[in-house]
Amino acid sequence: MLYLIFAVTFALVIACIMINRQMGGSALIDIGALSIPVSALNGCIQTLSFAGCFALVLIDYKRGFRLAIITLVTSIAGSVMAIVMSKSAASLPGTLNCVINFFSCLMISIQFKKSKLAEITDRITGLKNRYGFEDIIFRRVRSGKKGYVVYIHLGGFLDINTNLGRHYGDSALVEIARRIRVAINGMGSAFKIEGAEFALLIPEGQDCRKITDAVIAYLEEPIIVEKDGIPVKCNLKVCAGVANNVDVVARADTLMRNADVAMNYAIRYEDKKIVEYDENIRREILHQIEMEKLVKEAIENDYFFLMYQPQFVISGKYLRGFETLIRMRLPDGSIVSPGEFIPVAEMSDLIINIDQYVLRKAMLQFKQKCIESDDFFVVSVNISAKDVAMADFADRLFAIIDETGFPAEKLEIEITEYSFADTMGNTVNNINRLRERGIMIALDDFGTGYTSLSQLLNLPVNLLKIDKSLIDNIEDSEVNRDFIKTVIYMGHLMDCEVIAEGVEDDNQLNLLHEMACDFVQGFVWGRPMEYDRAIELCE
Ligand code: C2E
Ligand code: CA
Ligand code: CA
Repeated sequence: MLYLIFAVTFALVIACIMINRQMGGSALIDIGALSIPVSALNGCIQTLSFAGCFALVLIDYKRGFRLAIITLVTSIAGSVMAIVMSKSAASLPGTLNCVINFFSCLMISIQFKKSKLAEITDRITGLKNRYGFEDIIFRRVRSGKKGYVVYIHLGGFLDINTNLGRHYGDSALVEIARRIRVAINGMGSAFKIEGAEFALLIPEGQDCRKITDAVIAYLEEPIIVEKDGIPVKCNLKVCAGVANNVDVVARADTLMRNADVAMNYAIRYEDKKIVEYDENIRREILHQIEMEKLVKEAIENDYFFLMYQPQFVISGKYLRGFETLIRMRLPDGSIVSPGEFIPVAEMSDLIINIDQYVLRKAMLQFKQKCIESDDFFVVSVNISAKDVAMADFADRLFAIIDETGFPAEKLEIEITEYSFADTMGNTVNNINRLRERGIMIALDDFGTGYTSLSQLLNLPVNLLKIDKSLIDNIEDSEVNRDFIKTVIYMGHLMDCEVIAEGVEDDNQLNLLHEMACDFVQGFVWGRPMEYDRAIELCE
């Protein structure tokens, strides 16, 4: 198009010069009642061309500037021809006018370029921002180029902003951008998408996994920021989601969405550092989002209810107490099991609401029964590792005890050994505070984790719950039985009592009795039941 305009303008200018020369420099063209000198028409064409350039610069500064160059070249060429042919410098003022117009165009284009650059550049890190990223990725995909899009999430970055202040957050961002540049070492480009998210664009042929690994490793090295002259160490938990159009055909927006989905998957599953997108991930994330919505709805509309599963002293079949098990009842009457919604709730903070709900409801329901009876009796509640690792867990629990008036010594908290993986140290502190108030601690799903024996022996718990998976295999071999026997023996050594869960038949029960297991919980003596039936059982 630009070349066509150039050709037409050039032809018109040359035509004007030729006509003017033929007529001895005084050619006139009649338009209606008007007689216009050809030289004036020539000037008008050039001025109009520049008006077009200015208009185009406002829409697309690059094209506008290119058209300005064409118009200037046309004008200078015409002027040179006119001087040579007519041996007169009459066209010089017009050409000078063109040169001035051209420089005006140049200035405006430079200004536009600067503001466009500011628009697509992140002011803190100097990297291209989301707009710049989108611009490049759309252009690359349109021109058939292949590669990898990597979204990087910096877990814990918000803590820097919150604890130290935005100013320090900004210096950390500068350092992060520097490290990313160093780690990718020219094998790709880096972008600052938004908040604490960065992106990489790695062309086909490069080892995307290796580059991403290097970026993550460097970013996870402690970042030091100086606060009031004192160096503060900040640790980030970094993960990444990768999508590509090397193995599959993907549009630019699909590529970005897929990398985002993969990154969110990596954030949810904390053990995964790099997640490569595939359709299963998308389906799982969609399911989780749906489930998360459902849990929120359940909290708002009180879809939850509690079931209680009895626990018995093996010798004598006395009732020891109940384990509280949550259920969700949807408006259509269907029941959702905790196995479906608890893991999803644990990925967000919704688990805190659920644990609070269960604690309050169980304490309210069993308060009267517990106050009236002097007998040993336990109401056991499952608490997520995430909740017990919160600094305010013990305070929240004590507040519910005070509010409901439930006798603390009849409450038992079930946690798993994963709770003790908490690096911040809140868990042990919370557990110790709970024990000081007489609350019992049970170690759930015992025998499935990987905590070392020496560590296990030091855990501050009162009860070991042998996991159902061990009980399921109790009849299979002598080795399995020996293992369970050892667990029970070890529990007693730790000054703990031991309960077997998921006991389904008499044979398992008898074997456990022989092994000196203290308590039993399972379908053999009682399934989870509604509150009214649980109270009947107590009586
Ligand atoms: P868990 O704490 O290990 O609970 C025991 C699960 O085994 C319960 O499933 C119970 O119904 C089931 N069970 C008990 N005895 C038998 C048996 O003899 N045979 C069989 N086949 N199953 C038996 P449920 O209620 O579906 O709970 C599943 C998991 O959901 C629980 O495992 C616990 O981790 C979680 N959960 C349940 N309620 C809560 C809650 O209120 N808060 C939290 N944070 N988690 C909960
Ligand atoms: Ca449990
Ligand atoms: Ca269990």
